Amino acid sequence: MSFFYPAQCMKKKIHPHLLFSDEKGNIYDHPHLLMVCRKGNEFVLPRPDELIELPDESELFFLPGRRAVGYNPDTGKTEVLDELAVSAFIAPAYTLCSHAAYVKEKDAPVLPLFAYAPVGYFKGKLYVCAKKVDEDKRQVFKNISPKKISSAVHDMLKKYPQNRLIFHLSKCALTYGCPAAKNFALGRFEAPIPTSTSCNARCIGCISYQPKESKIPVTQDRIKFTPTPEEILEVMEIHASREKRPIFSFGQGCEGEPLTQWKKIVKAVKLYRSKGGIGTININTNGSITEAIEPLARAGISSLRISLNSANSKFYEKYYRPNGYQFQNVVDSIMVAKKMGLFISLNLLFFPGITDTESELEFLMGLIEKTKLDFIQLRNLNIDPDIYLSLITTNSPCMGLSNFIKRLKKNFPWLKFGYFNPFIER
Ligand code: SF4
Repeated sequence: MSFFYPAQCMKKKIHPHLLFSDEKGNIYDHPHLLMVCRKGNEFVLPRPDELIELPDESELFFLPGRRAVGYNPDTGKTEVLDELAVSAFIAPAYTLCSHAAYVKEKDAPVLPLFAYAPVGYFKGKLYVCAKKVDEDKRQVFKNISPKKISSAVHDMLKKYPQNRLIFHLSKCALTYGCPAAKNFALGRFEAPIPTSTSCNARCIGCISYQPKESKIPVTQDRIKFTPTPEEILEVMEIHASREKRPIFSFGQGCEGEPLTQWKKIVKAVKLYRSKGGIGTININTNGSITEAIEPLARAGISSLRISLNSANSKFYEKYYRPNGYQFQNVVDSIMVAKKMGLFISLNLLFFPGITDTESELEFLMGLIEKTKLDFIQLRNLNIDPDIYLSLITTNSPCMGLSNFIKRLKKNFPWLKFGYFNPFIER
């Protein structure tokens, strides 16, 4: 690990102090040491343009087996505390500009699948290094009581006792607090439609499946059945009857790869559209099964969101570990979807210090140039940073998230950025 402190950072007006925690989870701000961040394998001070107040609905947590690291402005050196490092799990619609800094102990457990934002304290406020990338209020729940959500879920269960998909979504909303499932129960924004029990990739950070030997805990149970086209249709019709601009998304955290069920999805979408069903029908996918794209487009889907950690096939394959397809199939799927007139988003799994490097930007620009895709969703890659960096490293210089976005905007003026699947007028 190297240490780098740009002098300009010391001139900024906000100097957040280091937060640290005791073993019981009591969090304190350090009276003297300043907050340090991590970009890839480098420790840095936060850049002034990357500091924002901790967004509402974010959470703080301590990092077990990881000691807090702060910067001593008198000596110009870092100091490692005996106490634990603290990080923030940031609310949706924000993308991390760096990770929390810490020094790992030998027996430190693997961190669960979240994104670990650096957080500090200055004059009564908490600050993180992140950027708001979407103004959509889709996953803001601060004015909705848990009681209201719970009673909406139970009403749904009472009304549709036969529909297994509704039963599954109810569990997602109540047990895992899934924002998409809660929105379905509340009849607003985007409804999730999980369909697939299996996947043809083996992502290191898959949230719904980890092999037995893995030390990474799964954060959601994968769906254990494939809903029928009729069950899917019922969910779509319920949602469309309550939301004026409905969005439906196949491909959720609680399932495998939806393209492995593309024939069922085609049937359900055809049924929905044949009855005059309105709204945006989206598929969140790894884009692996190119032959599925044309039939899906003909059936009436509106958009495709392809997830990638990198447009560099070597990095992609290290993280996705595709089983029976290659990165080129993903590119081909985007090309076919574009030809069929679908709206294409990338779900770019952003990892500060890797994604925003010169070499990664070059690969990404090559992909955009080739496919003319429409939109980039800048989502945080949820993973223990040390696991990702043990697979993927680069010496390429890092430009930071803001410059990364600026450079893409300059080169591709049509390209839009956000966090959520947009509503597409048909
Ligand atoms: S593509 Fe999705 S479902 Fe498949 S392994 Fe990766 S994260 Fe899991």
